[in-house]
Amino acid sequence: MAKKFLKDVAVRDRLVFVRNDFNVPLDAAGRITDDTRIQAAIPTFRYLIENGARVVCASHLGRPKGEVIPDCSLAPVAKRQGELLGQPVSFCPEVVGAKAEKAKAKLKAGKVLLLENLRFHPGETKNDAAFAAELARGIDLYVDDAFGACHRAHASIDQITRFVPQSVAGLLLKKEIDFLSMAADNPPDNYLVILGGAKVSDKLPLLTHLVTKADTILIGGAMAYTFLLARGMDVGSSRVEKDCLELCREILQKAEGGGVRILLPEDHIAATRIEPNITVRIIRPGEGIPGEMMGLDIGPETVEQYQAEIGRAELIFWNGPMGVFEVDTFAGGTMEIAAAVAAAKATTIIGGGDSIAAINKAGVARCISHISTGGGAALEFLAGDKLPGIEALTEA
Ligand code: ADP
Ligand code: MG
Repeated sequence: MAKKFLKDVAVRDRLVFVRNDFNVPLDAAGRITDDTRIQAAIPTFRYLIENGARVVCASHLGRPKGEVIPDCSLAPVAKRQGELLGQPVSFCPEVVGAKAEKAKAKLKAGKVLLLENLRFHPGETKNDAAFAAELARGIDLYVDDAFGACHRAHASIDQITRFVPQSVAGLLLKKEIDFLSMAADNPPDNYLVILGGAKVSDKLPLLTHLVTKADTILIGGAMAYTFLLARGMDVGSSRVEKDCLELCREILQKAEGGGVRILLPEDHIAATRIEPNITVRIIRPGEGIPGEMMGLDIGPETVEQYQAEIGRAELIFWNGPMGVFEVDTFAGGTMEIAAAVAAAKATTIIGGGDSIAAINKAGVARCISHISTGGGAALEFLAGDKLPGIEALTEA
């Protein structure tokens, strides 16, 4: 169903509440170490400022669990946001209450106010109506730009929409929906999915759905070893999830029945420990991994085979690194796949925190069509799930 979009509605002189995902990493001194999420939200703010809206914005950061934890304050975000916007962003040390109301009332057209961490209030994650009503007080328009939080039915994502006159998608959320819908609803022929990373259990719901949608699925990372074990290969001490073996077998069978190709790594880089400079062994096709060794990266033949698939694809979605890319010894497979995806003729979409870190490490982020700001949300969207945050928006 078509949802309303920010550019469809009037904003001049209206008090607009923007829900952002400013959940950025901070170092011990409280400095922002990666401001990608703040940058990604800038176009919506530019649009609102240029069109004379009075802008209040809010986000969660970290896991303060309903208490005021000074280390999770959004104050550094307001400062950075102001630098990126080229105009100061005022900061209110409260989310709701007298100070917040006063700051909202004072707000002039074209100005931006950031509220304190939504999760300092227990009502946020409980989707509490009374808290949502307070957030919505005086608000003329709600703008959701927090794709990374759209899979959560939280007060500032879901309930708040019941207390405001209108709820629309911001520019960032619209971009996420447009790109991901391409993959979720109407993928072209030659839709290639690359899945890796640590936990199979996180990704099985998506895989179960993809075996009816994708043409080819390339599997790497630790999740490959649960599949390889399910196929009867010796995987040594590789990371496996034994309680997922049955479901892995079912997925492999379903794919075979439905004409979807699932490719598993044929060769591997293995070692006894995850350490830089440790001696590695290349496990050749057909060989098993010795008992004391772990598969920690895809091997050279797998890289070549996967590169060929990437070259043929029309649309690529990638989530999850191919190996322990944080350690250079085991980063080669992920870096080669990143370069191939960047060079591909296909439309390319990447989601997931570690996957984005990997694409940045490879230095090819510029060459990707869409880097999703939502890891879990992107996986749920592609699995065909309805996201509470998108469902709650006003229909066009
Ligand atoms: P994303 O954040 O992109 O969704 P995940 O969190 O699912 O990705 O997976 C990333 C993690 O998977 C990385 O920390 C990486 O070291 C780990 N990983 C990848 N391959 C292996 C492997 N073969 N063995 C152990 N861990 C792995
Ligand atoms: Mg991760």
